[in-house]
Amino acid sequence: MLTIDHLTKTYGDKKAVDDLTLHIAPGEIYGFIGHNGAGKTTTLKACAGILPFDAGEIRVAGVDMKTRPLDGKRLLAYLPDNPDLYDYLSGIQYLNFIADVFGVDKDTRAERIRELADRFSLTEDLAQPISAYSHGMKQKLAMISAWLHEPKLIMMDEPFVGLDPIASHLLKEMMRQHCDRGGAIFFSTHVLEVAEKLCDKVAIIRQGKLVASGTMDEVKGNASLEDVFLELEENHDA
Ligand code: ATP
Repeated sequence: MLTIDHLTKTYGDKKAVDDLTLHIAPGEIYGFIGHNGAGKTTTLKACAGILPFDAGEIRVAGVDMKTRPLDGKRLLAYLPDNPDLYDYLSGIQYLNFIADVFGVDKDTRAERIRELADRFSLTEDLAQPISAYSHGMKQKLAMISAWLHEPKLIMMDEPFVGLDPIASHLLKEMMRQHCDRGGAIFFSTHVLEVAEKLCDKVAIIRQGKLVASGTMDEVKGNASLEDVFLELEENHDA
């Protein structure tokens, strides 16, 4: 579903992502872990087609993001860590705008918005301007917009930060359902307990390089993900 081959991205002379190769199959929830500044956001943005990269290849469901970025973007949703929503629109106006962008027809969008807003308990607030939303409400609205066009690949940067326990639980459920229907999820997190419970596979990035990847068993064996992560950091610092 997502193939990243030898991705390299530099900012000036800083190599933010260094020859990174990672393959995510349909049905997989793939966690992306790394210290602050490791290169997670840079990788996710490159995969979403919103950040040009220097070398390597990224394919979403077989579509090359460099040569066919628009086709690729139709197949994915990307949720940044701080979604930039349009404050002057109401929630429903924003969702209709996103549905227009992705060409979701009127009946289909109405049904999906009804169902998703209901699940996130946001129905009552959809008529309000986004400027009146709390941080968590904005996140919920962004989640709904991500699911609206039924993307094959959903990528999220720190999606659990700021969500209340009910919304967190719901998001985990939706992530699993998405993958059970043949989609794939690639998300970054610093919450290792969540990654450990939720992910089928995990990748650890350090200073732009992939230092571990695979199934949870392959990466951590009988240890905790936190122990493995800390050990990798210590070994590299030594
Ligand atoms: P965090 O967990 O703190 O969100 P991250 O793993 O997402 O970090 P990135 O945001 O991808 O890390 O940053 C990787 C490296 O690239 C860092 O050293 C960062 O300083 C650098 N970097 C990121 N964006 C830019 C930019 N626009 N210009 C210059 N350097 C950047």
